[in-house]
Amino acid sequence: MQILNYINGALQAPLNNNWLDNPEPATGKVYSQIPDSDSDDVQMAVTAAKEAFPAWAALSRAERSDLLRKLSDLILKNLDTLAAAESRDNGKPLWLAKRVDIPRAAENFRFFSNAVLQWHDEAHHMDGHFINYTTHQPIGVVTCISPWNLPLYLFSWKVAPALAAGCCVVAKPSEVTPMSAFLLSQLCIEAGFPPGVFNIVHGTGPKAGDAMINHRDIKAISFTGGTKTGAYIASKAAPLFKKLSLELGGKNANIIFADCDWDKMMKTTLRSSFENQGQICLCGSRILVHRSVYEKFKTEFAEKVKALKVGDPHDDTVRMGAIVSKQHFEKILSCIELAKQEGGTVLTGGNAIKLEGRCEEGWFIAPTVIEGLDQNCRTNQEEIFGPVVTIQPFDTEEEAINYANATEYGLAGSLWTQDISRAHRVANKVESGILWVNCWLIRDLRTPFGGMKQSGVGREGGMHALEFFTEAKNVCVSL
Ligand code: NAD
Repeated sequence: MQILNYINGALQAPLNNNWLDNPEPATGKVYSQIPDSDSDDVQMAVTAAKEAFPAWAALSRAERSDLLRKLSDLILKNLDTLAAAESRDNGKPLWLAKRVDIPRAAENFRFFSNAVLQWHDEAHHMDGHFINYTTHQPIGVVTCISPWNLPLYLFSWKVAPALAAGCCVVAKPSEVTPMSAFLLSQLCIEAGFPPGVFNIVHGTGPKAGDAMINHRDIKAISFTGGTKTGAYIASKAAPLFKKLSLELGGKNANIIFADCDWDKMMKTTLRSSFENQGQICLCGSRILVHRSVYEKFKTEFAEKVKALKVGDPHDDTVRMGAIVSKQHFEKILSCIELAKQEGGTVLTGGNAIKLEGRCEEGWFIAPTVIEGLDQNCRTNQEEIFGPVVTIQPFDTEEEAINYANATEYGLAGSLWTQDISRAHRVANKVESGILWVNCWLIRDLRTPFGGMKQSGVGREGGMHALEFFTEAKNVCVSL
């Protein structure tokens, strides 16, 4: 089966007719091919987007909103097909794709179809002599580039506000998980998007992605992915004065105080460590536990982690599916080796898992818990982005905060305590764009989302995203 580009309203093969293999992580077998697009395909998409822009920007917000809502409805109507595609492409459990990824992608389009209707302009009186008003004008053709871990969820999180704001989009999903974006392009045709408004060019970062970020007619780049890639994109975008939003890597701390609601903490910490095989940028990968309950935590957590079922993503009873690619699978195993060399003790996991039958060649890793490492070692500094967590005791609140802040990242964190003052105090001192107290992964889409330090630049979500895809224009009138 061949995945096709979506350019100027039509599905088409890459102009160079070059293709990349797309394997299924659970079986290790190639099951489809994706376009290995290059700058010619990107140029075709940008030309189409430029031509479509004036009419798209001139539509009323209500008309754009209607189309986004229609797309959202179509995603829900095709939930089973999209979830199966997402699970097959990514290796995640099918139940997770059905329950989280695809409903959330539909919600992203629905949310921005509503948000754009609520978005208002501002006016400022200057003592009755002058009036200033500010309008927001869509910036033009923009690019949205997304990673493989939550494929349609993160892709739609960028594309939806861009389209709602009146921009035309040239987008690229990760070449590792292209299938759900391909299915989305079919739904866009069904929804009746005007040709050129939304284009999807498949291919690698260094080829198709690079052509997008360097294209002079692309006015803004919304990127989610690794910090290294983000730094590279920033270096290319800055001299061309493109607007830039970067959502990057993380090394999130999960701080557990002795007075927490133990059962709730334990249940959530299992999820926040290993959901989606630990491949969520918001997963907690460094668990910090107050010394008075460290031994109790260590024993109970290791036991529960060991019992997590890893297996065929089709099986509704598995908690963890396959790692997304062979390359990433090997990287995670090498990180575990490094942790051992650094003096870490593997409490559970630490190994690849060989399944039988359909998944015997798949890429599976046992959920892994490591102790005995200080916060300065590479294992605690570098993003692993897999089912591997470290645990470490702390003695004081200050020490916990220092450990939490000891990396260059600052994406997210979580905190467990029943002491309300401590909760607020610590939450405000942890350097992260989002901090969950006694919960995890709850998102109000109206809030600004993004990371501090090397976890990103800019904020997505709500009106922040609509603003990002527009230019503010001030008019000052003498009264
Ligand atoms: P990646 O940086 O390798 O790739 C991300 C996307 O960028 C892909 O579509 C890729 O093709 C493209 N790309 C790569 N090189 C490019 C280039 N030179 N020019 C243009 N595009 C290029 O990241 P990944 O491995 O796909 O994703 C994992 C990373 O994403 C992790 O670091 C994770 O923390 C991060 N992430 C962050 C968030 C967040 O919200 N902050 C969310 C999810 C994932």
